[in-house]
Amino acid sequence: MSKLAVVFGGSRGIGQAVAQQLAARGHRVAVASRNLDAARATVAMLRGGDHVALCCDVSKEQEVQAVFAEIQKTCGNISYLVNAAGINRDGLLLRSRQEDMVSLLHTNLLGTMLTCRASLRSMLHCQGGAIINIGSIVGVKGHAGQCVYSATKAGLEGFTRSLAKELGSRNVRVNLVAPGFIRTDMTAGLQEEQLIRGVPLGRFGEPEEVAQAVLFLLEMPYVTGQVLLVDGGLCLAM
Ligand code: NDP
Repeated sequence: MSKLAVVFGGSRGIGQAVAQQLAARGHRVAVASRNLDAARATVAMLRGGDHVALCCDVSKEQEVQAVFAEIQKTCGNISYLVNAAGINRDGLLLRSRQEDMVSLLHTNLLGTMLTCRASLRSMLHCQGGAIINIGSIVGVKGHAGQCVYSATKAGLEGFTRSLAKELGSRNVRVNLVAPGFIRTDMTAGLQEEQLIRGVPLGRFGEPEEVAQAVLFLLEMPYVTGQVLLVDGGLCLAM
């Protein structure tokens, strides 16, 4: 049955691949990012019609509330929420600036909390729903040079498990997908040849491969509070 799905960070990379796979399965998709033109460009490439593009900075409570009010008004109740909006600011903690720490916390962690909270009325009204948060292998394993980023991703794990407990009785499932190295804008500046030596599958993953895991968890009716690593085996080597 066709459902309404909202994908934050859907304009590029992993979120865009998720939006494409949701649309390919016949779902109606609302694509949100700060850059409305980029969200519109994603919507233009989705299979089927009736998808919508929205402008929203997830770190801003008012914008999150406004975007959910608009979705409710124009599209109805949400069944699926995917939180793929995220940023990185790599560097040693010793040299890091508070401004960057705040941006990371507000976008990666607070942003997901705000979108989850804002989606609940709709999901409870539908008597069920599913949320996928995108974490990271570094939230599970840690990584030098990514202390604050990994803290936001580890925070998402605790948030995901707790929310799964809070919402289980209301038939809302909450899971987290933790990718390893995935070929997107976020990893464009990395030394791929050097880094893949540590990946048992010997390559970076593609956004579509993370999207497959997201779709799998969205559709699994008896799975909640779980963390699914999509990392080519990287965790085994870390
Ligand atoms: P990209 O940089 O390719 O895409 C990031 C997306 O997030 C864009 O759509 C961007 O749109 C959106 N975004 C960023 N900040 C905000 C904001 N404040 N409000 C709303 N939207 C925002 O990254 P990826 O696709 O690679 O990453 C997606 C998620 O996966 C992130 O959470 C990332 O941390 C995580 N991840 C990625 C890995 C990788 O190797 N690529 C590995 C592990 C985790 P816009 O700029 O228009 O707002």
